[in-house]
Amino acid sequence: MKREKGLLIVLSGPSGVGKGTVRKELFTDKDLDLQYSISMTTRQPRDGEVDGVDYFFRTKEEFEALIEQNKLLEWAEFVGNYYGTPVDYVKETIEAGKDVLLEIEVQGAMQVKKSFPEGVFIFLAPPSLSELRNRIVGRGTETEDVIHSRMLMAKEELEMMDEYDYVVENDTVEMACERIKAIVTSENCRRERIAKIYKRLMEVEE
Ligand code: 5GP
Repeated sequence: MKREKGLLIVLSGPSGVGKGTVRKELFTDKDLDLQYSISMTTRQPRDGEVDGVDYFFRTKEEFEALIEQNKLLEWAEFVGNYYGTPVDYVKETIEAGKDVLLEIEVQGAMQVKKSFPEGVFIFLAPPSLSELRNRIVGRGTETEDVIHSRMLMAKEELEMMDEYDYVVENDTVEMACERIKAIVTSENCRRERIAKIYKRLMEVEE
């Protein structure tokens, strides 16, 4: 595919909708060749999570220093912890012509939209609110209090759907991934992303 820059794909949506599962499945797909931007967080690692693979786990002080130094493309406080995207990795990877995927919550996605409007903003939606609750409970890693606050937040987060380019229902992981693959393919064919480079190539051949 001819293009000047990689895509910045922002996969977002309410807590518990299955962003993490869909994202992991997308990365098993060789056709897509996506790069994942590993986030920073101040939350404690869950069982099996590895620093530098799932997240960069940092202290509150370290995270606040990164905010001060403008090292984050976006950041948000989510259920008592900070989460953020390291800016250098994203910029360098896109400049190198590779597609980068961020999997982030909605406040952060809206910050990216302001500073990087040419990004592709995908809202992953649950089939229903009751299904969303089942998924949050089913994960089994959260206390009742956290489940309650995540559900309240999810309802607010659903309101943000209007701000996105695409809405993908996560009825099944396979179907959601198929839809996202179709979006990435279409976005890579958008005239404004590739016309300049094609015209340049055609001039050379004349
Ligand atoms: P969890 O604690 O379940 O791993 O993540 C909680 C929420 O934070 C999820 O909605 C996840 O998508 C979001 N998240 C993960 N990394 C980032 C990030 O770098 N920035 C923002 N804004 N949200 C993030």
